[in-house]
Amino acid sequence: MVFYSTRSKAHTADSTEAVLKGIAPDGGLYTPVDFDQMQVDVGKLLGMSAVEISSEVIGRILNDFTPEEMRALIEAAYDGKFETGDLTPLEKVGDDFVLELFRGPTSAFKDVALSVLPRLITAARDKLGVKEEIVILTATSGDTGKAALEGFHDVPGTRIIVFYPDGGVSDVQKAQMVTQAGGNVGVCAVKGNFDDAQTGVKNIFADDQANGWAAEKGARLSSANSINIGRLAPQVAYYFKAYCDLVLRGEIRLGDPVNFVVPTGNFGDILAGEFARRMGLPVAKLVCASNKNNVLTDFINTGVYDRRREFYKTASPSMDILVSSNLERYLFLASGGDFDLVSGLMADLREKGIYTAPDKLMETMREHFSAGCADDEKALDAIGRVWRDYEYLMDTHTAVGWAVMEEFKASEDNGWVNVMLSTASPYKFSRDVLSAISDAQPDSGFGAMDMLNATTGVPVPAALAALRSREARFNDCVEKGEMLEYVKEHLR
Ligand SMILES: *Cc1c(COP(=O)(O)O)cnc(C)c1O
Repeated sequence: MVFYSTRSKAHTADSTEAVLKGIAPDGGLYTPVDFDQMQVDVGKLLGMSAVEISSEVIGRILNDFTPEEMRALIEAAYDGKFETGDLTPLEKVGDDFVLELFRGPTSAFKDVALSVLPRLITAARDKLGVKEEIVILTATSGDTGKAALEGFHDVPGTRIIVFYPDGGVSDVQKAQMVTQAGGNVGVCAVKGNFDDAQTGVKNIFADDQANGWAAEKGARLSSANSINIGRLAPQVAYYFKAYCDLVLRGEIRLGDPVNFVVPTGNFGDILAGEFARRMGLPVAKLVCASNKNNVLTDFINTGVYDRRREFYKTASPSMDILVSSNLERYLFLASGGDFDLVSGLMADLREKGIYTAPDKLMETMREHFSAGCADDEKALDAIGRVWRDYEYLMDTHTAVGWAVMEEFKASEDNGWVNVMLSTASPYKFSRDVLSAISDAQPDSGFGAMDMLNATTGVPVPAALAALRSREARFNDCVEKGEMLEYVKEHLR
């Protein structure tokens, strides 16, 4: 399989190179164009376990790994880490279905991919005969950092350092990170906001001296964020798994199309759905759900992507994004691999903060995508109603999806079954979820967790419940300009 940079013909990679490099040298994102080679026969997946389906689907995309290698890798990646062997259970709520992607070690959907990525990176490194230790540097606004720590800790040949904004993550998210076990991990607060931490990490990647210093130490700096194709591929699998579950339960017939509603930030999760569709899954519509930062809703409805707007902090912080990186991959796919178009649009976005996609591309997009948005008020209202009507407890991100699904059903009910992707445990955002179903006034994140549990009886995920009694291992906090020093100190 050839992976192309989205920005020029000059940079291609096979799947192992694409995983190891993460991003193409011209700043483009590695993307396949020929889906003929990646077709999956859905009927053959029926009755397979979640691990088998994942191996089959991921192996189609990253085809430099043999089926045996992929199977062993996926088994090791998920072994004992998820609450259920199903990995991503499908729950019926009213007339619709909720695909629970948050049953992994950190209770957020990023676990599905970040459990696999470290093993893909080290296997790719071995295949390519690269000897260096891989050092992952990540800036996080909360969820990604913990999921990456959980994925990389104690994976031989890797180290991971996570930077988070001091005072910028929730009590629970901070506790999750600073108590992280493992001999190859580092966690450090940065005096500044998330953008400062992210800029600091990007500066280190772009710093020749830092890279040279790492090479002398036998290390190679790399990133775990969602532009790596190795993070996208594992997410494609759960679309197939959910479809198989619907067929096996008699909810649909094999071949019936299904709508998927996806709470979206960086456009990674929903793009995985588009991969699934192109790989042969019968998908009716992919519904893109945004919070008040609704740049994608506007784009899908008008064809104009305009990031020059106010940034809102919402109750669904993992979707507070104005530049959705993975949309670049979709523009490339929908334009039939038009490098010039994509690099031009991305230059416009960088330089002017706005671009307009061609009408033909938008027509293609609207055949397969719908879009909607819900602010905090609508999302919290949905949490309350769904709890009262169905005794099903949703987190704030999932609730955005639910509210948008309701609008979608009202405006363009196409008669097909709806699957809504649920991206976090309600206990990760206990305070807001609690406020949606009661008037209680908790004094801390953990207090909110207890009250939510007492009010609903929904079990607290074991890893979150255990956090309170765990010692903090990392108390470091550095100035913005000192991040590289921290990395050097840590690797010494
Ligand atoms: C990351 C995240 C999202 C957004 O996913 P994208 O792939 O960036 O679109 C939604 N919900 C939660 C809880 C997340 O952590």
